[in-house]
Amino acid sequence: MERFNDVKELLLRMRAELFREVSESYATCRELGQDGVPDIGDMSANAYNRDVLFNLSEAQRRQILDIDAALERIAKGEYGVCMNCGESIAPRRMEVRPFSRYCIDCKTDIEKFGEK
Ligand SMILES: [Zn+2]
Repeated sequence: MERFNDVKELLLRMRAELFREVSESYATCRELGQDGVPDIGDMSANAYNRDVLFNLSEAQRRQILDIDAALERIAKGEYGVCMNCGESIAPRRMEVRPFSRYCIDCKTDIEKFGEK
């Protein structure tokens, strides 16, 4: 798996970075939750911030799962192969999203019709 060493390193770095961001937004969440603001305007602003942070960390959580799955596929020697049709995923696509699970055709189908 020599040729995947660079990718593996990149994925591990992305993963570490995401973990840092997630823990930072959790810390911000707690701060927002703790200041008891009596003003209704401030309260809705706080609720909005919490929503944003929640969604952000949800997206990040999913990305961490994607990265973990990619690392697992590197270990199994299945990296860069579409999990749906078994074709090789275009190298350009793997460069843009190194944790891609599907080739662009399957990804388009899945986005249109949902995961099988
Ligand atoms: Zn495919």
